[in-house]
Amino acid sequence: MVEKIQPKQQRRGGPNRHHRNNFQNAKPIQTKTPETPKPLDSFDRFRGKIFRRRDMKIHDESKTSQSGSLTSSNETLRVIPIGGCEEVGRNMTVFEYGNDIIILDMGIQFPEEDMPGIDYIIPNISYLRGKEKNIRAVIFSHGHLDHIGAAQILLEKLGYPPVVGRNFTLAMIKKRMEDYAPGSAKKLKTILVKTINDRFTFGKFKIGFFDIEHSIMDAVGVILGTPSGNIIHPGDWTISTGSERVTYNHLSKIPSPRILMLESLGATDFRTDPVSDKEMYANLQMLIDKAPGRVIIGTFSSQIKRVGKLIEYAEKIGKKVALEGFSMKSNVEIAQTLGYIKVAKNTLIPINEVNNIPDEKVVIICTGAQGEGNAALSRIVADNHRFVRLKKKDTIIFSSSVIPGNERTVQRLKDNLYRKCDNVIHTNLMDVHVSGHTNAAGIKEIIKQIKPDFFIPVYANHYFLKEAAKRAVEIGFPKERIIVPDNGSVIEFKDKQFKVAENKIDTSYVFVDGLGVGDVSQIVLRDRQVLAEDGMIVVIVQIDNKTGKLIGSPDIISRGFIFMKEHKDLIEATRQKVRDITTDKDSKTEADPDDIKNSLRNELGQFLFQKTQRRPMILPVVIEV
Ligand SMILES: [Zn+2]
Repeated sequence: MVEKIQPKQQRRGGPNRHHRNNFQNAKPIQTKTPETPKPLDSFDRFRGKIFRRRDMKIHDESKTSQSGSLTSSNETLRVIPIGGCEEVGRNMTVFEYGNDIIILDMGIQFPEEDMPGIDYIIPNISYLRGKEKNIRAVIFSHGHLDHIGAAQILLEKLGYPPVVGRNFTLAMIKKRMEDYAPGSAKKLKTILVKTINDRFTFGKFKIGFFDIEHSIMDAVGVILGTPSGNIIHPGDWTISTGSERVTYNHLSKIPSPRILMLESLGATDFRTDPVSDKEMYANLQMLIDKAPGRVIIGTFSSQIKRVGKLIEYAEKIGKKVALEGFSMKSNVEIAQTLGYIKVAKNTLIPINEVNNIPDEKVVIICTGAQGEGNAALSRIVADNHRFVRLKKKDTIIFSSSVIPGNERTVQRLKDNLYRKCDNVIHTNLMDVHVSGHTNAAGIKEIIKQIKPDFFIPVYANHYFLKEAAKRAVEIGFPKERIIVPDNGSVIEFKDKQFKVAENKIDTSYVFVDGLGVGDVSQIVLRDRQVLAEDGMIVVIVQIDNKTGKLIGSPDIISRGFIFMKEHKDLIEATRQKVRDITTDKDSKTEADPDDIKNSLRNELGQFLFQKTQRRPMILPVVIEV
């Protein structure tokens, strides 16, 4: 996994050489403030042109110049995914046309197992350095953290460009900013998307929207119109099997070239008949209704629509709801403030009151269905929760899927729950979860409906993108019009052709750890990995600064390597080794502490590996007296 941490093209900081060359030809950066957006009359003005497929010139690999050099001509639409094309999360795409830049989403990625201590990863915006003035707007498709989670950091770094989004999305961003730096939300320049028919012009970009379905309120699809192509980007989306089905046929009327950038998480989900929302809610309601005692529902706080419906249902049948988990509470609060969740004041109760109410009247909705150590459900199961102790009669519902990578943790959580409760319900037993993402059939369906000229699968791990490309080919979409990007790919559209530059922009990881942004480097991370795997040993020696002779006995401290009290022999042998290493030095020359440190690190490392087959980090401290 370490190679994932390596910068893709060059070290963080500054655009790569190729781009720098191009930008020398670019126009000087405009200093005027972004244009005030005004509604477009609509996309109708484009509809006169009817696109004929045979007119389309197809990308020809042989024509791609050797250097991947691209003209910085004003008619070129540049699409640059900064993140979200090799992972789930860190979604952020830059659209550039002449001197105008529009950004879509600023998400975070959660750390991998080999990134100890990292809170999250944010998109690398080094490509935008020096181009801040060109950023006309940042559009947010919806309020999930993998789309807005880095906003509080990146918006500040980019000088607070105008932010475009629907009501709930903007409220989520403001909340995130306030949690990060109180008072910072005031600096936001927001442009509210009041209805799906709103249109905005930002420089050469004409921005429109369309309805989509997703698990959060106010999720919206975005259309970015430029003279060189019209991007259609649903953000995260699904096609429900319900009666109020959202369709996308109308998007096929957008003028060519239509470029569909499609979140493709469902590309390998081949279930022909996914569970409908309706069935899921029927099951959940039945369980809440019939529960002999308390109901504890573990779900994602991002499933805010579902949480809202469950609260409303509980109220309807006279039950009280307690919410547990920071994000759960704050998301519901925002939804309530905006009127998206409508419940009476006394329906929601604080968690410390659950024990004052008869069990059969209590519903607890909490985070932690992934077994996250500090989350509410884990604490409840471990008897570490301040107010909730599990009872045999409780009904526990996992209204969630298992995120890949969390299988073992979730299994352990379930095992512990089964010991304590008689009624544990999860998706293997009953349909109590529906994903907010479509399946393979949905991907084919949306492509058929929109009839794009180019298809760019995005917002998922690389293999999903490749699989989504296959789904498109299966329904006859021409392979040569599919672009599977990596993070940092620079895709250019001009004259109905596309070109992918040979060089990528820098998208190496930027880690956030506590209050530090980007200050944890690969070296720090590698140290943490070593410490986590083999621990460390500190060796303190005092030497005579003239002769280099060892004074007294070396001190040895072990942490995470061996328990010293139980390994006195090894400690003694180590101490003797330290003596040998330090006395070996030439006593005629002046003592060189660095030299001694290096010897200690190397020779002691070998010695300990021979003895233990472990490679602890060795920290030599040489004190000259
Ligand atoms: Zn989402």
